[in-house]
Amino acid sequence: MTTIHHINAGTLQAPGGPVAVCHCLLLEDPAGLALVDAGIGLLDCRDPAGRIDQQIIDIGGFRFDPADTAVRSVEALGFRPGDVTDVLLTHADPDHAGGLADFPHARVHLSAEELAAVGVGHLRYQPAQFAHGPNWQPRPPATRDWFGLPARPVPLGFASEVLLVPLFGHTLGHCGMAVQQGDRWALHVGDAYFLRVELSTDDHPVSALSTARAVDDPNRRATLEQVRRLHRDHADRIDLFGYHDPTELPPGGSSGMTNDPPMTHQ
Ligand SMILES: [Zn+2]
Repeated sequence: MTTIHHINAGTLQAPGGPVAVCHCLLLEDPAGLALVDAGIGLLDCRDPAGRIDQQIIDIGGFRFDPADTAVRSVEALGFRPGDVTDVLLTHADPDHAGGLADFPHARVHLSAEELAAVGVGHLRYQPAQFAHGPNWQPRPPATRDWFGLPARPVPLGFASEVLLVPLFGHTLGHCGMAVQQGDRWALHVGDAYFLRVELSTDDHPVSALSTARAVDDPNRRATLEQVRRLHRDHADRIDLFGYHDPTELPPGGSSGMTNDPPMTHQ
């Protein structure tokens, strides 16, 4: 079975908002290492304004600390950055894609729709973060039914099946990542919600932020309903968590943690 390490690869605090983490995964398998999202990277820390639009830095409240990067966590776990053969991107926003340049030779899997949105130069994406020429592996629509959603298998050759699960709305091609763990699944929902409280209510200040950051808010809301359905009807099979809620990141970061983040907000 593929081991899941939970790591933090960045911190943000929007003005007046709560502290947010960048909850990435390192999938450890005999066939290789794969990152789920790349967080804020070393080059972002070295030259923030040269990599990310200053307005986006200010609105998001980006913090730039080399200790809070995926590449440093990979090293702390005893691996070399070059061992990371694949990166799976939920979407290409700067707090998710900045670390790609720290793994320049990895294959980068994302939905074909998301890569197309990057290609047409949507303003939310930051071209400098892709200047190294990522080895893009766009995953086209597929028909693998996964709990009622049309999932797209990622051909990693890992012991555990890994699926892109379309959760569109936050961005045009935003996806979750499902990783099989025995007879259960870990589902990283990316930015399908910012805080876990959104699973149970729309009446929370963070909901306005989720709306404001969505490319297609009606689609985002429909996606959130699907995530709520999975949580309600399949909690016995699926452990789901998002990218930014610090309460979902196992304490102490990566070491020794596998597939069960604490569920403090049911
Ligand atoms: Zn994000």
